Amino acid sequence: MALPTASRIRIVLIGTTHPGNIGAAARAMKVMGFDRLVLVSPKHFPSGEATALASSADDVLAKAQVVETFADAIAGCPLVLGTTAHARSLPWPTYDLRGAAEHAIDESHHHEVAIVFGREKTGLHNDEVERCHHIVTIPTNDAYTSLNLAQAVQLMMYELRLHALAASDQTTPAFTPPSDWTPQPPEQLEVFFDRLERGMLNVGFLNPAQPKRLMQRLRRLFLRARPDENELNILNGIASALLDAPPKKAGQANASSGQENV
Ligand code: SAH
Repeated sequence: MALPTASRIRIVLIGTTHPGNIGAAARAMKVMGFDRLVLVSPKHFPSGEATALASSADDVLAKAQVVETFADAIAGCPLVLGTTAHARSLPWPTYDLRGAAEHAIDESHHHEVAIVFGREKTGLHNDEVERCHHIVTIPTNDAYTSLNLAQAVQLMMYELRLHALAASDQTTPAFTPPSDWTPQPPEQLEVFFDRLERGMLNVGFLNPAQPKRLMQRLRRLFLRARPDENELNILNGIASALLDAPPKKAGQANASSGQENV
């Protein structure tokens, strides 16, 4: 059965080393009814090994999009879910596999969704997690949590399929966003983060010698809030005001606004 919103869900593989995993991931996607694969700087692609492991999913490989950066891969996606076996030192909002699949399918009725998988050896890097709204953990044996990449993709695709089929029986959608909420794609948020960072540097709130985790915490805050277009305009206005304010050196900012707790 065709899944109504499969075309709004893209599977992103970052820096894949073994082309066989790309092929096996394509197969995992196709058997569950999905076909949008995005590869960020794969080590070897196209590759005979990928095609062999894809089996009859070579059409998914043929139309896979290859991009250079993670930002390119998630452009236009107001919801980005990153899969990882690891807790992070700055804890990030986390779904388990099933919850993530439900969330992804529900939102795919309204906009584009990206589900991101990391490198075989090193997984997702922190700066990539910091661009995801939520992270997704596949429940595993505590003593050994790391699945093979293509197997992790397979489990995700299966859960997406189950939820997509269940959701297609419902007469009313499980999730309807407020009618005036237009969640923004990552590229719009990045413009704001960059302006905010420069603004905070300008007024001495952010100390470049000791940035601590100020930006990471603020990224987490705004990714959690998922500001819409109007809200982002307001936030950009505030950041611009910081940028245009008379410059101060770090430490000259009001003591109550320092970075003690970041
Ligand atoms: N050694 C790497 C493991 C990478 S496995 C690490 O320490 O991060 C390759 C990818 O498969 C991961 O980046 C993640 O996207 C996915 N993956 C593997 N096991 C997972 C799990 N238990 N939960 C969620 N994703 C997992």
